[in-house]
Amino acid sequence: MTIDDAARDSPRGGPRELLRLVSSGAAVSRADLARLSGLSPSTVSLRVEALISEGLLRETGDGKSRGGRRPRQLAVPTGDALVGAIDLGAHHARLGTLDLTGRVVEVRSRPIRIEDGPEAVLGALLDEVAALAPRPAAPVPGQRGGATAGGLRGIGIGIPGPVHFDTGRIVSPSRMPGWNGFDVRAFCAERTDVPVVVDNDANLMALGEHRSTHPELDHAVYVKAGTGIGAGVISGRRLHRGAQGSAGDISHCRVVADPGPLCSCGNTGCLEAVASGAALVAALREQGVPVENLSGVMRLIDDGDRHATALARRAGRSIGEILAVVVNFFNPQVVAIGGRLAECEPLLASMRATLYERCLPLATQALLIERVVAGPDVGIMGAAQLVIDRIVDPG
Ligand SMILES: [Zn+2]
Repeated sequence: MTIDDAARDSPRGGPRELLRLVSSGAAVSRADLARLSGLSPSTVSLRVEALISEGLLRETGDGKSRGGRRPRQLAVPTGDALVGAIDLGAHHARLGTLDLTGRVVEVRSRPIRIEDGPEAVLGALLDEVAALAPRPAAPVPGQRGGATAGGLRGIGIGIPGPVHFDTGRIVSPSRMPGWNGFDVRAFCAERTDVPVVVDNDANLMALGEHRSTHPELDHAVYVKAGTGIGAGVISGRRLHRGAQGSAGDISHCRVVADPGPLCSCGNTGCLEAVASGAALVAALREQGVPVENLSGVMRLIDDGDRHATALARRAGRSIGEILAVVVNFFNPQVVAIGGRLAECEPLLASMRATLYERCLPLATQALLIERVVAGPDVGIMGAAQLVIDRIVDPG
């Protein structure tokens, strides 16, 4: 690895970081970038030139002069260069376009039937995303960055199940009949000529929330608790996927001894079988409470139903027990919970209490335990970041 490769891989001062400094408004010139990143002016210039030729940065009119030549200002091009994003859920998909700063330009929500299978579901969503973005602009001779600046630059897709990140293949998802082994990337490559990046929904939530809420923190864990349960891990400001892309998948960690409820994976006592939205629905039905879906469970909890509330508390404790192991092992600065169950106060309270009870004081001393605050677009924000990262740093 050369020195430059090492610097590029480092989140601080890498092209990604420079882009973030400009898109957040913290830096408007090469001089700002050198000051904020700690890089030498010549290194900043080289990286800025590369980002300009990629169409990821552009130079705007002149900045304020402090005597001598007026500095050129830097900006992230907005407008015709877009990234497409699809965040697939169990019953709904959110899709949209974002600009190269990661800001949402257009967003829609669609009911889907996951059981219709990957070709039908993804085919329709891909067509819709492609229709949202204009065709790439023709290269303008003499205009820097013009050749690659316009149109759709890539599509990021979030899947509510395990994804082998390097191949873009779905591996043994629960509640996604007909999707096991499906090669999302190959399917998309036949339908679009822009790069497609696929990851699981918890990783995308982690990326979207980290970049928008806590980009300054190095180590973070984000739990997505909805119909299923998963987590995304940020280590050294980067998404940590592990060897196959399964890092953070806490759904089949065991929380109760046999005989626990049978899980979709064939084991018993898994976190997902005890604490997911699907588990709460199943447990209430078993107690004779006629509840249709997770929304029904949430309504019962809001109404103070004691069975539903007790189950939510137990779910929170179970999530807290697994997270306590994660926190002791990984020592993050923040643990945030998102997804539908994050709105459930009794669950959140018992998760928090269990974390404090079971963690080393050193690990919880400065630990932030929060709700994910990026809102319903967090998944498509993460999906777009994935694409932007790929464009900035094709590595
Ligand atoms: Zn399981």
